[in-house]
Amino acid sequence: MNDVRAKYGALEVLHGISFTIEAGEIVSLVGPSGSGKSTVLRALMGLTPITGGDVEIAGEKMDYSSARSVREARDRMAIVFQQYNLFQNMTVMQNVTLAPLKIKRWPKDEVTAEAKRLLGLVGLAAKHDAFSDELSGGQQQRVALARALALKPQILLLDEVTSALDPELVNEVLDAVRKLADEGMTMIIVSHEMGFVREVANKVIFMDHGEVIESGTPQALFETPKTDRARDFFSKILRH
Ligand code: ADP
Ligand code: MG
Repeated sequence: MNDVRAKYGALEVLHGISFTIEAGEIVSLVGPSGSGKSTVLRALMGLTPITGGDVEIAGEKMDYSSARSVREARDRMAIVFQQYNLFQNMTVMQNVTLAPLKIKRWPKDEVTAEAKRLLGLVGLAAKHDAFSDELSGGQQQRVALARALALKPQILLLDEVTSALDPELVNEVLDAVRKLADEGMTMIIVSHEMGFVREVANKVIFMDHGEVIESGTPQALFETPKTDRARDFFSKILRH
């Protein structure tokens, strides 16, 4: 992302965001509520228009101005939100295989095999035939992860995927994300789980008011922040 700007109506909420992520890396976006973290992910997905700067993926400049390019962005990336929004009247397996079968029209046996692998990876091998409303929030969010991965994204975007969960369910979702990290999945993770960020992220980007204030290794940001704003934020969030 190079000097990316984004607006909601007349209000600019990203004032020139730049960062890079290498294949296999995990970058974590952190910062106060309203700082623009979700908007960065939404801009990457073509959900919020970019009004300046550019995005380049694997050497290719993205152009979000046409439906075709937005489709391409959504081929390369998948996003999982805080609200997992599973299809309630479908089984776990149907949730994971629907888009690959109906939208991508990939072969059924391959899609099914991959869905089984992914559900195993997120610890839901025994739940293929459960309906989503029979699952806990943590289980549903793990289905949402498998559903996003079934589209074979190059980059997975996670926007506070544990924030809506009861505390005892947070770890099972983080464990699933850890497994993806071990598989070498490239991820941009927005999270308030600082212990987790510290453990998995190669790079942390601290945002405030639509700008990148400071970025670096988790250790550098959490232990020796250079800016007052980062120091203030981490002292508040790491205290408890
Ligand atoms: P974060 O994810 O860091 O909490 P957001 O990216 O959601 O921040 O929001 C950045 C800014 O954009 C905030 O000031 C927020 O109020 C504003 N914003 C977010 N979504 C919308 C929207 N749909 N319409 C208008 N303003 C929005
Ligand atoms: Mg947000």
